Amino acid sequence: MTINASGWRPELGVAGEADSVTFTGNKGLMLEEALIFEIGSTETTGVDFAEAADASQRLGGLARTAPIGLPGLSEPETVRHYTRLSRQNYGIDLGFFPLGSCTMKHNPRLNEKMARLPGFADIHPLQPVDTVQGALGVINELAVWLIKLTGMHGVAMSPKAGAHGELCGILCIKAALEARGEGHRKVILVPESAHGTNPATAAFAGYQVEDIPATPEGRVDTAALKARLGPDVAGVMITNPNTCGLFERDLKEISDAVHAAGGYVYCDGANFNAIVGRVRPGDLGVDAMHINLHKTFSTPHGGGGPGSGPVVLSEALAPFGPLPFTERYADGHITLVEEESVDDRHPHSFGRMVAFHGQMGMFTRALSYILSHGADGLRQVAEDAVLNANYVLRSLEDVLDAPFAASGPCMHEALFSDDGMAEGFTTLDIAKGLIDEGFHPMTVYFPLVVHGAMLVEPTETESKAALDQFIGALRSVAARAKAGDPSLKSAPHFAPRARLDETLAARKPVLVWKEAPLAEAAE
Ligand SMILES: *Cc1c(COP(=O)(O)O)cnc(C)c1O
Repeated sequence: MTINASGWRPELGVAGEADSVTFTGNKGLMLEEALIFEIGSTETTGVDFAEAADASQRLGGLARTAPIGLPGLSEPETVRHYTRLSRQNYGIDLGFFPLGSCTMKHNPRLNEKMARLPGFADIHPLQPVDTVQGALGVINELAVWLIKLTGMHGVAMSPKAGAHGELCGILCIKAALEARGEGHRKVILVPESAHGTNPATAAFAGYQVEDIPATPEGRVDTAALKARLGPDVAGVMITNPNTCGLFERDLKEISDAVHAAGGYVYCDGANFNAIVGRVRPGDLGVDAMHINLHKTFSTPHGGGGPGSGPVVLSEALAPFGPLPFTERYADGHITLVEEESVDDRHPHSFGRMVAFHGQMGMFTRALSYILSHGADGLRQVAEDAVLNANYVLRSLEDVLDAPFAASGPCMHEALFSDDGMAEGFTTLDIAKGLIDEGFHPMTVYFPLVVHGAMLVEPTETESKAALDQFIGALRSVAARAKAGDPSLKSAPHFAPRARLDETLAARKPVLVWKEAPLAEAAE
């Protein structure tokens, strides 16, 4: 392994064209940075400690005998290390983040300010409820908004992300079926156009998952779904708007059929930002739906969290929802219902999903977002997000294949395929080419119903100028892929790393630093 003065490891970086290789490995002011253990010797220390006073230690036989092995860097060296790393990160505050299915939108600073108020940020979940009435008030008020916006009966606030909310909803369905003596219903139907977490959740909860095909226009095949209903079906999980960016128009008809057959309807509401203020899932016969607060109601996410996935529930499922939940008395006092059967009203809860009450910081951000937009503003969020996505779709459909463009307008995201590229050119080449243009790529190879999928979600917070620049860049890269420009095959040329083996990185992640991590990983 070669590590030069800057820590650059040539074998790591297929750095595009030879003429872009520099002595340091730096590219302009984009600086290379090695691991802290590789730049800081464990033999040195960056801090001057005074000689320890002669005090007897009280560690018994537990005093450390070997060196601790921490890298020794001075303060300025440490600051540079982490600042350089932070510059290698791409975030929504840096530029347009077109990931489809993720809803990466601007997070208003007001939300951050609210979430940091000490009355929300510094409280402890085991504090007596009388001392946290304001925080419980936020949870309760947000719950009321979510119920109103969705036209549902109740809401479980504690699930910590979308997928966690799916589990919550499915456990409600399971509990409801068992309560009616129909625990033998073991099948959950999941359309091809659903998000991948849906079948994973159903399987995790012990159900058999059966696929329902999509129609050529990218929606659930309603006839196929109805034909499969029967006494063994516990329910369906439908993503609406679905992962093709289309509204499932038949959802009411599907819900009626599922209910008639004794099942329940789970709706994946992660894409609620496309319909908030326009459609109430309760009116479509939905029994349970999670809302990703971190998508629809802003709040920063990505890189692992934090998320929050409250689940709105129909009248049929609400009694089975998890503990704890808030309850407001007529005198305004709010209490936490923490236990089953505290009185006659809550005997059916399926139990508890998390230790405490959910993500307080996310609740505060979401309520701040909702209150600052107001009911009319939320409706406009959905309308602008859909308008932006359709602008992207119509501006690109002449250069990129848009498989469902003929089915009419899309919702919040625009879907393209790799059809029409020159021989040997793929979606990956387009994504990598976009990096050279200064854009984080869109979601690629998802959803699976489309070959070489490219899914772009602009969200409502991007201006027309920002979208025009992105559209221009994507048009240019798509034209190169169509013309078979060989330099696109080795893009990106301006990024520190070009084409990493992402499968190897995911399958065999090297998470612990050892003396020669690369040599070992290669074994
Ligand atoms: C993001 C998303 C999920 C999962 O939500 P997490 O908060 O990441 O667990 C589920 N379904 C759809 C359609 C999504 O977009």
